[in-house]
Amino acid sequence: MDGLAERAQHTIEEVAERVWGFHSLRPLQRAAIHAVLDGDDSLVVMPTGGGKSLCYQLPPMITGKLSLVISPLIALMQDQINGLLLNGYPAAAIHSGCSDDEVADAFRQLDSGHLRLLIVSPERATTGSFLSRLGNIEIGAIAIDEAHCISHWGHDFRPDYRRLCDVRRRFPRASLHAYTATATPRVRRDIIKQLGLREPKELVGTFDRPNLTYRVVPRVQPADQIAQILSSSPGEAGIVYCLSRKETEQIAGALMKRGINAAAYHAGLASEQRRTIEKRFSTERLDVVVATVAFGMGIDRSDVRRVIHASLPKSIEAYQQETGRAGRDGLGAECTLLYSSGDIARWRRLFQRSADDVGNEIESAQIEHLEAVRRFATGSRCRHRALSEHFGQDYTIENCGACDVCLGEISQTPDATVVSQKILSCVARVAEDRGAAYGSAYIAEVLRGSRSKKVLERGHDRLSTFGLLRSMRKDLIVSLIDQLVDQALLQRSEGEYPVLLLTPGSIEVMRSQREVVLLSPPISSATRRLDPEEPMSDAERVVFDRLRGLRRELASEQGVPPYVVFSDATLRDMVRLRPTTAGEMLEVKGVGQTKLQRFGDVFLEALHAESSAAGYPDPS
Ligand code: ADP
Ligand code: ZN
Repeated sequence: MDGLAERAQHTIEEVAERVWGFHSLRPLQRAAIHAVLDGDDSLVVMPTGGGKSLCYQLPPMITGKLSLVISPLIALMQDQINGLLLNGYPAAAIHSGCSDDEVADAFRQLDSGHLRLLIVSPERATTGSFLSRLGNIEIGAIAIDEAHCISHWGHDFRPDYRRLCDVRRRFPRASLHAYTATATPRVRRDIIKQLGLREPKELVGTFDRPNLTYRVVPRVQPADQIAQILSSSPGEAGIVYCLSRKETEQIAGALMKRGINAAAYHAGLASEQRRTIEKRFSTERLDVVVATVAFGMGIDRSDVRRVIHASLPKSIEAYQQETGRAGRDGLGAECTLLYSSGDIARWRRLFQRSADDVGNEIESAQIEHLEAVRRFATGSRCRHRALSEHFGQDYTIENCGACDVCLGEISQTPDATVVSQKILSCVARVAEDRGAAYGSAYIAEVLRGSRSKKVLERGHDRLSTFGLLRSMRKDLIVSLIDQLVDQALLQRSEGEYPVLLLTPGSIEVMRSQREVVLLSPPISSATRRLDPEEPMSDAERVVFDRLRGLRRELASEQGVPPYVVFSDATLRDMVRLRPTTAGEMLEVKGVGQTKLQRFGDVFLEALHAESSAAGYPDPS
């Protein structure tokens, strides 16, 4: 390292410490920041929570030149600005939610030259009036957040992104930097091409999120399964993703009945209602949001401990992004996917419905994405490994200790081959009547020996397969049928009312030429490891909860979400280190100079009060 680089190195660490209270930089952050300082274009691929924002926020504090940041997420923009302002960092955002006054104020700050960061939406960034209003202002770097939106191979294509190369043309001397969490090699190439990046530094981080524990369980009774998962950590933040609006309402209702503090969230709600829910969630007054994918883009609560997918996401990219909202504070979090093969057919119908608008090329990309996530859900390889490899990365750990496969939680259905033979024969028997075919729910009814009106009318109570699985729950039989479909031992027809059909594989199983392995859905919740770090003692937990309360109060006074004041990780560090002086407080990770000035005393006082109270028994 030459002298200059060494000095820059020194300054980067110093600024990170002083402004953000970060004691160290993550390796990729350092390289990404150097690219900006050197004026080299870059493509930075880092998983959600990896710390992308620092890569474009920090350099202006060294160069003194403005960075223009383009981000599609208005809610996140405002939170980011609030966080920066609390750190004493001059930043502003211009977006459709700003009043005229706010826009005028942002431009005033811009003209005065002391602004270091300006965030705008892609729509705004590409309008001629905005670009000409920037006039002769010197822009050091242009940062494109969520850069995968530029590629239709990505999962979140936004046409506006295609025009972003105009921004660079307007400021040819600025370096251009693309940041994304989700990029397979194909999307990466597409970003470079579409944005016209010039010999970019490609910096690709590890995708693995070691603090997340992944599980895929057969979906049996979603509301019960979800309630059980959430009840294992009452009062902690969770997000449940559903495919339809109706499902969000049903599941949220079922959870509330069980005493869980939950709300439904989807694009059909009035924007006022949506904002209220977002606000309650980010201020920790709401624990669980049951949502369609409309939720989450703007939500930056870092202490989400559970992300549950009530149905299959449409791609691994989407899964990575949605589960990426768990454990952003680096502490343990759990992601559970409830899988049923019926979701595949649902997605295909949705794709077909929109195919007219998007064209065939996109539809076939969608189907490819869906196949990949189906393989993930039905596979029995380490989940961490499967995800890493999907993003083109090696995973060298033998046993991750943080997925259902490696934890040995996947259990097999006893006598699966015999059970399968019974199911398949039932499908064969009902077909003997003029080749009729039925869906899985009906087949399960016949196997259970149900005397429902439909069964009796069709005379299926006289079949030899009637009641063969009498002792098994219906939802369990349906789940086993699902698995047979995934293994091509049964076929499910396309269309609105899919029916089950035999395949060549079915015949082999019925003739005992082939063994079958089926998974058992877990009935009781498995042992959960929440905390990869040292768990807190009960006493520490009490202090932690007090500090959280204090944080909530301060946040509501300042009108910002609590994590903007301090993250959970910071509060934990405080509980662990118990600082008694301002100097010691700076040792806590996430406490920089500005936050020390703003909140240091209040938290020191609270910690002091806790320590002196600890010597005495609680009066209650
Ligand atoms: P991304 O945009 O990549 O999803 P963020 O930039 O929001 O991630 O950062 C995620 C979290 O990590 C934030 O809470 C941030 O404060 C924290 N963080 C980022 N860089 C560091 C660092 N060098 N040291 C400690 N915490 C960091
Ligand atoms: Zn594993």
